Amino acid sequence: MAQKPDVFAFLEHPRQDPDVYPLKIRKTEFREIYKPMTAEEASGQAERCLDCGNPYCEWKCPVHNYIPNWLKLAEAGRIMEAADLCHETNSLPEVCGRICPQDRLCEQACTLQTGFGAVTIGAIERYIVDEALKQGWRPDLSRVRTKPWSVGIVGAGPAGLACADIMTRNGISVTVYDRYPEIGGLLSFGIPDFKLELQVMRRRREVLEGAGVHFKLNCEIGRDIQANELQKMHDALFFGLGTYTPVEASLPGMDKGGIVPAMEYLIGQTGHLYGMDLPGYEHIDLKGEDVLVLGGGDTAMDCVRTALRQGAASVHCVYRRDQQNMPGSQREVNHAMKEGVRFEFNSQPLRLIHEDRKLVGLEIAKTRLVTSGGGRARPEIISGSEQVLPASALIFAFGYRPSPPQWLQDIGVDTDEGGLVSMKQRLPGQTSNPAIFAAGDMVRGSDLVVTAIADARETAQSIIQYLEMAQPQLKRA
Ligand SMILES: Cc1cc2nc3c(=O)[nH]c(=O)nc-3n(C[C@H](O)[C@H](O)[C@H](O)COP(=O)(O)OP(=O)(O)OC[C@H]3O[C@@H](n4cnc5c(N)ncnc54)[C@H](O)[C@@H]3O)c2cc1C
Ligand code: SF4
Repeated sequence: MAQKPDVFAFLEHPRQDPDVYPLKIRKTEFREIYKPMTAEEASGQAERCLDCGNPYCEWKCPVHNYIPNWLKLAEAGRIMEAADLCHETNSLPEVCGRICPQDRLCEQACTLQTGFGAVTIGAIERYIVDEALKQGWRPDLSRVRTKPWSVGIVGAGPAGLACADIMTRNGISVTVYDRYPEIGGLLSFGIPDFKLELQVMRRRREVLEGAGVHFKLNCEIGRDIQANELQKMHDALFFGLGTYTPVEASLPGMDKGGIVPAMEYLIGQTGHLYGMDLPGYEHIDLKGEDVLVLGGGDTAMDCVRTALRQGAASVHCVYRRDQQNMPGSQREVNHAMKEGVRFEFNSQPLRLIHEDRKLVGLEIAKTRLVTSGGGRARPEIISGSEQVLPASALIFAFGYRPSPPQWLQDIGVDTDEGGLVSMKQRLPGQTSNPAIFAAGDMVRGSDLVVTAIADARETAQSIIQYLEMAQPQLKRA
């Protein structure tokens, strides 16, 4: 007879996050800070799940993962089946397990979160998929019937990869084009290795190639292939181009030097780490510098922690609201604090200070948060609170706006006044050109990996519907 589950396991085993490497090591290295879970740890933590009748974690997860079901399989050590289930709803579960802000998604919604500590859902998702891939897991495509359609995907970020995954599982041939030398988009070139190592994306490329996805890397659409040419090569197109226009600040003294652009800094560091030639992304070394990073989101956290690992003399994060109001993951903020980053909360930058055209400081004023009209609390400057923070390098990390290329218009893809792709047709993800679809940051605005994946998977279903409607004689092929 099957053993009855221990519903009080959460009392016997407290929540236990995976171990992290000692501070001394991790502050100097560009590698993931979490150690892999052991089979026993994963099983013990998975056993804590209450298997709630109406699992809120599933609802809060943007791809609606079957969380309690794969936790049960992980508890029983049935890793290959658990990996199959993880991939039913998510195209990059090993990535989401690593970098989703679980503290405001699935784990925040876990019933045990109040009082007992949520189940370590993200870490177990990562464990399942890493372990299964190590044991040779590959998607089972044996029952897939090949269709005679070809879809061109531009952008090998999470949106493009999720679309490629669904196409392949439906027997549709795909070619993914990307201007970078490796797949992943921001996963490989924006997000540093201490959160997500590049080898994770290399391994995923092997899985996708094994499933039949063709990648054409180092290929920029609009430069190496014109968009109208691409249209002729495929039955439908999908765009997941991301958002790359930095939100600019305007402070007195900005024109006098000392400013490091955030994205260029992060991408240059990855290129340097892996010896890749990434034209336009020089390696910027902040060793010995007094670094100030302005902003409170994921990009800001990645910049401060990169500067720390490069050996900066001091690293401060300047944010105009308080810690509770930071937009990024609190887990990453806590890591940054532990690693030695100093936070200047409630601080509004006023002007850059230079001596002989060399940046020496940033004048700030302290703020208080004011709520009016039920909106987000607004920072208000406290007069007389001005002070100067020493700085020799300043990084603005205020997020990214859309960066639609000019050629989108030429092929009939409309964008709104802010530059986001407009969705005007009947099917989710269908642009103003019915044969062209889009998802991810370029449609939603800068957001998360998991939302890019969720939107792209839904859009991929639209592409299938479109192909079947446009060419019904091929539906039964
Ligand atoms: C520094 C940083 C840290 C982040 N940290 C996190 C995090 O911890 N957790 C999280 O969930 N989210 C995080 N995000 C957000 C997340 O990375 C994005 O929301 C997500 O990557 C968007 O996916 P995407 O596929 O839409 O675009 P992208 O990942 O930007 O991919 C777009 C791809 O399109 C390619 N491309 C663009 N134009 C062309 C062209 N003309 N021809 C060929 N290829 C082209 C680009 O090379 C790129 O590979 C972070 C973002 C940044 C900037
Ligand atoms: S995909 Fe993200 S939100 Fe969903 S279960 Fe995994 S870690 Fe949680």
